[in-house]
Amino acid sequence: MTHSYDAIIIGTGQAGPFLAKRLSQAGMSVAIVERHLFGGTCVNTGCMPTKAMVASAYAAHMARRAADFGVVVGGHVGVDMKSVKARKDAIVERARAGIEKMLRGLPRSAVYTGHARMRAAHEVTVGDDVLRADRIFINVGGRAAIPSMPGLDRVPYLTNSSMMNLDTVPPHLVIIGGSYVGLEFGQMFRRFGSRVTIVEMAPRLVQHEDADVSAAIHDVLTSEGIGVRVNARCVRVSGTTDSVIAHIDCSEGRPAVEGSHLLLAVGRQPNTDDLGLDAAGVRRDERGYIAVNDQLETNVPGVWALGDCNGKGAFTHTAYNDFEIVASNLLDGTRRGVSERIPAYALYIDPPLGRAGLTEAEARRRGRPMLVGQLPMTRVGRAIEKSETNGLMKIVVDDQSNEILGAAVLGTGGDEVIHCVLDTMYAKAPYTLLKRAMHIHPTVSEFIPTLLDALKPATGGASA
Ligand SMILES: Cc1cc2nc3c(=O)[nH]c(=O)nc-3n(C[C@H](O)[C@H](O)[C@H](O)COP(=O)(O)OP(=O)(O)OC[C@H]3O[C@@H](n4cnc5c(N)ncnc54)[C@H](O)[C@@H]3O)c2cc1C
Repeated sequence: MTHSYDAIIIGTGQAGPFLAKRLSQAGMSVAIVERHLFGGTCVNTGCMPTKAMVASAYAAHMARRAADFGVVVGGHVGVDMKSVKARKDAIVERARAGIEKMLRGLPRSAVYTGHARMRAAHEVTVGDDVLRADRIFINVGGRAAIPSMPGLDRVPYLTNSSMMNLDTVPPHLVIIGGSYVGLEFGQMFRRFGSRVTIVEMAPRLVQHEDADVSAAIHDVLTSEGIGVRVNARCVRVSGTTDSVIAHIDCSEGRPAVEGSHLLLAVGRQPNTDDLGLDAAGVRRDERGYIAVNDQLETNVPGVWALGDCNGKGAFTHTAYNDFEIVASNLLDGTRRGVSERIPAYALYIDPPLGRAGLTEAEARRRGRPMLVGQLPMTRVGRAIEKSETNGLMKIVVDDQSNEILGAAVLGTGGDEVIHCVLDTMYAKAPYTLLKRAMHIHPTVSEFIPTLLDALKPATGGASA
């Protein structure tokens, strides 16, 4: 049966639902299609559940450190993984139900549950239904990439999605991939009581970050007893009835790591492979991301792609910002584009890493004079008071314009503190403005002016 709407939204991640609401408020009829869980990755298998579990892991960690604060916790600190999971599930279910309820309540709109495929530029099939609209918004997100590695067809493995079902603590979790997802799960499960080994093929963890930031993260993790293997490419996996073995191509260390569970955290791939994009004439790039312009329009007029599937971002805030851009351009008459945004993200290990703009290494590649400031968290009063002095802050400034190019705050509250730098960057204000600002004591943010006091001309090559 064919149904016509003003707009079709495929996927209910971090852009689609908000756009559906705005379009509906503007008087349009909207068809919303979701094949699995309302709220997508962030709500069900990404940000929300992992941060809920990180909070449980932090509580366990602080309970073990209680004596450092003069607090007496009697006996062994244990973790009840079933309760950790139940708390996480309750948080997720509330958010998921809220999104579904909001979507089902939109006037002039309908929710279809099933896999959507485009069969023409403006036609989408969902089961036996054919949906037609002049405006189509693709918000299909991504999934864990599974490498074509010998043995993976015979050995059980976990991804960020199946990790959500664990209600026991793995005795030894082997994680392939030392980037954001791998590190968050690694520290979390170490704190839950697992032995954890992270296997990373690059010479260092989170290799996109500067070497000093990466080294500080390495120290944080190894100080908690996490095994880290770098320069270690997992080439195949094998297993016995109760163990998995990652076989490693490496010049140092043992050529195999044996554990009880295997987590693959080697990146993400867009859900664009079974979407009928060819039938619709929508172009993808060589990695499968839907090609879009600065306003997130595809090559087919009237078809947009938002969120992780367009390759312009890989975060909830980038997907939400995509919604804001499309809504502004379509409904508010204000022209906005992706090029206006400044890269920003956080890594939710403890302490968290907050990042804005360029790394030092990226800034150096511009070949312009610049200033770099650094401050260890051991200098920050607030961190000392909390006995959480791991990490460092650094900032990079253009020596001619005085504009801030980028910053990293690896330290307690780093995910929040970074915003005072980020907002100054959006304001295109000189760093001297932030240097003169009076911040509240005692906070980590009050040390941003001190960090700026420490600026020195960058010397040497692109070693960072
Ligand atoms: C472990 C982990 C932790 C993360 N932590 C953070 C974090 O702390 N902060 C942060 O900013 N980001 C984080 N992310 C990234 C964040 O989750 C994603 O960037 C974000 O969810 C992307 O949203 P999206 O709207 O692009 O798509 P998604 O949230 O992936 O949603 C896409 C939706 O489309 C549906 N869909 C797909 N194909 C079809 C189809 N053909 N028909 C119908 N429906 C379809 C899917 O079922 C899904 O519901 C994390 C990711 C992971 C994996």
